[in-house]
Amino acid sequence: MSIYQKIQDFVKLAIANGSIEAIDEIYLRNRLLHFLSLSDWSENVQETNLSDSLEIMDELLNFALKKGVFKAADTEFYESALMNFITPLPSKVNHVFWKKYQQSPESATNYFYDLAKQVNQVKTREIAKNIEYLYPSTYGDLQITINLSKPEKDPKAIAAAKLIHDNSYPKCALCIENEGFYGNGNKAARSNHRIVRLELNDEKWGFQYSPYAYFNEHSIVLNEKHQPMAIDHRCFSNLMAFLDLFPHYMIGSNADLPIVGGSILTHDHYQAGRHEFPMAKAALREKISLDKFPEIEVGIVNWPMSVLRLSSRNSESIVAASDEILAKWREYNDLSLSIRAQSSDGTLHHTITPIARKRGDFYEMDLVLRDNNVSETFPDGIFHPHAELHHIKKENIGLIEAMGLAILPARLVPELAEVEKYLLGKENQMDEIHKAWADQLKATDQFSVEDVHYKVGQAVGEVFTKVLQDAGVFKDDESGHAGFHNFIDFINS
Ligand SMILES: [Zn+2]
Repeated sequence: MSIYQKIQDFVKLAIANGSIEAIDEIYLRNRLLHFLSLSDWSENVQETNLSDSLEIMDELLNFALKKGVFKAADTEFYESALMNFITPLPSKVNHVFWKKYQQSPESATNYFYDLAKQVNQVKTREIAKNIEYLYPSTYGDLQITINLSKPEKDPKAIAAAKLIHDNSYPKCALCIENEGFYGNGNKAARSNHRIVRLELNDEKWGFQYSPYAYFNEHSIVLNEKHQPMAIDHRCFSNLMAFLDLFPHYMIGSNADLPIVGGSILTHDHYQAGRHEFPMAKAALREKISLDKFPEIEVGIVNWPMSVLRLSSRNSESIVAASDEILAKWREYNDLSLSIRAQSSDGTLHHTITPIARKRGDFYEMDLVLRDNNVSETFPDGIFHPHAELHHIKKENIGLIEAMGLAILPARLVPELAEVEKYLLGKENQMDEIHKAWADQLKATDQFSVEDVHYKVGQAVGEVFTKVLQDAGVFKDDESGHAGFHNFIDFINS
């Protein structure tokens, strides 16, 4: 099929998804011809059925690459700019989104998500490369993923980045100024990005889908201002306001401190999506009561990390109780459990990873208690995966992982293949970092060619369970349970 036919098919997609109107057809065709370094047109193009946008994208990119229109190293930017031709303007996307919202919040998010996939802003093909499976832990099925679409970040590098004052434009990857930005070596290609504008408690926020989604309809809710993350009353209240707008989505915030927080602490943002995480499925280990909030149902979640779950029809009560728990946690010490709210220099170490959802008429808030202290024994974090688990996971335990979805680094795919060979007694190049673990597996189990891959995968799931246990401030054991009760008594005091 000719390149001209592909261009014609591409233009048809733009008309169909509302990027342009029929009267704009010739105009868009001519702009595309120039973009692809062509200057003539064929009369032989035909009207065809709507084609797959990514297939046309591949053909047009291949054509332009062979022709030398762009360099292979710049594919990301050229591709995004190409797809921008079939992406409606931000004003149009916002208009359609809020019009559909009047039918239902779901039809609005469906529209936006389908569009994001169609224009390859959500990179479905890269996401499909990720490895996913379940691990049946004592806390329910944990979701294990090995991320083959995005590189990993080191927690110390994230902490260091917090201190760097970046003057470049846009200030960071979450700034609203990325919308339509061509990109460069330091900044991702965002020509085809669109952001839905919304208000949470009278503040201006943006809503976009994550290009490399970790879960279904993974979206980012970002403040229009480039300002640091903060877990506080405003945050709890914003999460509730978002649920009022989009009750079919969950929403959570990463903690606002290094080691226990997410990868970007410098820009106020939340993560949302349409996915039921293992933690959301976990039942309560026990019910408790908060004296000041008798109207709220409260319990400790049966979970390796330390989670209080608040449930009520009244979102304001939930926010008030969250404020109270946060304030108490920020000053709580239990030295017998190495829990220390403040170091001698006055640095505060306690915060919360909050996750909210609606269940019918009820608002549910899960508060994961976090402590980012380090010690001589645990220089990377007392409540962070400990050194013996780093061969599998050494990155921060952010809100997604806290909810039981492991995001493991791509390096594990080749590394675990070598571990499998080692377990089978074959010649191998297993990295030394996996040896102690592999020897332990070898001593406790038998492996065959048929089952070694499955068993290693499950053993990784077991490591991830320990990762979450390490991140728990009140351990799931007798002294941890007693410690948790002491903290609840402190809240009620
Ligand atoms: Zn920013």
